[in-house]
Amino acid sequence: MPFHQLFKITLIVFLTSSSFAITLNDNGQINTTQVSGVIHIKSEADMLNAIQKANNQHLPIAIMGKQHSQGGQSLAAKAIELDMLSFNKVLKIDQEKKQVTVQSGITWGDLQKYINRYNLAIKSMQSPNIFTVGGSISVNAHGDDFRAGAVGNSIVAFNILLANGKKVSVTPTIHPKLWSSVIGGYGLFGVITDVTLQLTDNDLLVSQYHEIKLDNFVNYFRENILGKKEVALFYAHLNIVPDVDFLQDMYVITYVDTKKLPNGVIPLDNPDKWNAILTPVFNISRQGKLGKNLRWNTEKRIFKRVYNNRTVTRNNAMEKPVKFASNHYSKYNADWLQEYFIPVSQLTEFIKALRPIILENHINLLNVTIRYVPAESNIILPYAKENCFAVVLYFNQGLSANEVMHAKLWTQKLIDAALSVGGNYYLPYQNFASDSQFKRAYPGYEKIIKLKKIYDPKNIFTNKLYQTYFK
Ligand SMILES: Cc1cc2nc3c(=O)[nH]c(=O)nc-3n(C[C@H](O)[C@H](O)[C@H](O)COP(=O)(O)OP(=O)(O)OC[C@H]3O[C@@H](n4cnc5c(N)ncnc54)[C@H](O)[C@@H]3O)c2cc1C
Repeated sequence: MPFHQLFKITLIVFLTSSSFAITLNDNGQINTTQVSGVIHIKSEADMLNAIQKANNQHLPIAIMGKQHSQGGQSLAAKAIELDMLSFNKVLKIDQEKKQVTVQSGITWGDLQKYINRYNLAIKSMQSPNIFTVGGSISVNAHGDDFRAGAVGNSIVAFNILLANGKKVSVTPTIHPKLWSSVIGGYGLFGVITDVTLQLTDNDLLVSQYHEIKLDNFVNYFRENILGKKEVALFYAHLNIVPDVDFLQDMYVITYVDTKKLPNGVIPLDNPDKWNAILTPVFNISRQGKLGKNLRWNTEKRIFKRVYNNRTVTRNNAMEKPVKFASNHYSKYNADWLQEYFIPVSQLTEFIKALRPIILENHINLLNVTIRYVPAESNIILPYAKENCFAVVLYFNQGLSANEVMHAKLWTQKLIDAALSVGGNYYLPYQNFASDSQFKRAYPGYEKIIKLKKIYDPKNIFTNKLYQTYFK
């Protein structure tokens, strides 16, 4: 064989070999994945080209927002990865209807920057504002506005580009099957291109700080939070010091809506200005019981002062500092989250089961937040089948194979504990549930498989969540 031909063949083998592939990971740091390539989406034409390429070359597509999901929900081996972050324009604002239309790669933080000038605010999003709108719809996220409920409740309409290259407009009544499968559907039906969201007024809210024992909390919540129409936002934190008051003491932050707009426009606070203080305090609590104790007491002292009778706009109440924690990872460990949805009357029962699992497995728990989510209706994969408390665990996790396997075992115990009280677990985190746990928790998976056969018969849109459980 002539030399130039041999050289050409070697080059082709080299370029197509897996060693040349691009390797990506998500924020959980255990999903190293070799993909075919990354397309930085700037237009719908870019998405169409990707779909055509996927069809021609028999490659899958996976979609990436900010990749804060932690179980490869935005990744698949050999996939063409669509990076949505530059597809982030505000397309239209209707001040009268209080609605905004955005491209799906925009983050809540950037949307807040845009709508604050109109004294409008987001109705439903996660507690922090760092996520994309497309990623949040695809997990049907929820946050501090416990009356608004999950993000799906604030969507007026969205457009989606399907596997056949057709763009479809979706509302609860037009293409209802797509509505109920795309919201909370983890990018399995196509690329959400743009979304019209219902906004609300950027009212002035007054915050309150309250300390309470877990045993008294459910009644307190029913009477003083859920039962008081003027309370608009709520979250609570549990004591994480592994001592007598472990997961028993808690403080509760609420915001009462004054129904008054500010005079003029109040600029957005930059929550990350607190990172310089928060990072070292949070890092001390990573070190053990003493550090956790110091942080818990400092936090209570400061928050009592800061949150009692503080008036802020809704936009400023809904942009919390989070980078001090969410940017923490190395080769050896990363901060992980898990979330369990527990029927209101079962909260204390679940926490009773949670305590020994955390302590016996030496989980480096850094935060436990309690929120409230009303039952999700109208979607195929609901996490809250009835009105629930969301119990959010934030912990630091070693990344060695043994440590990850250990985490999988105790996670399965926690999922059992949640399921046994009629609760559920959240899908954006590690894929640690057993097959039978997943099927019990998300029985709608069978419907999703059927709908995939209609809308995406070649399974072009995929990810590691789908590949783990939907077969
Ligand atoms: C620190 C932290 C705090 C969190 N707090 C909360 C919280 O308060 N409440 C809550 O509910 N969750 C919370 N989460 C979970 C979070 O909501 C999810 O991980 C969410 O997916 C993050 O959005 P993202 O932009 O990172 O999406 P990604 O992780 O990038 O994507 C999530 C899914 O959406 C799909 N997707 C993304 N964009 C599109 C698109 N345009 N079209 C179709 N599919 C798409 C992806 O393929 C993937 O399946 C938290 C996570 C972290 C790390």
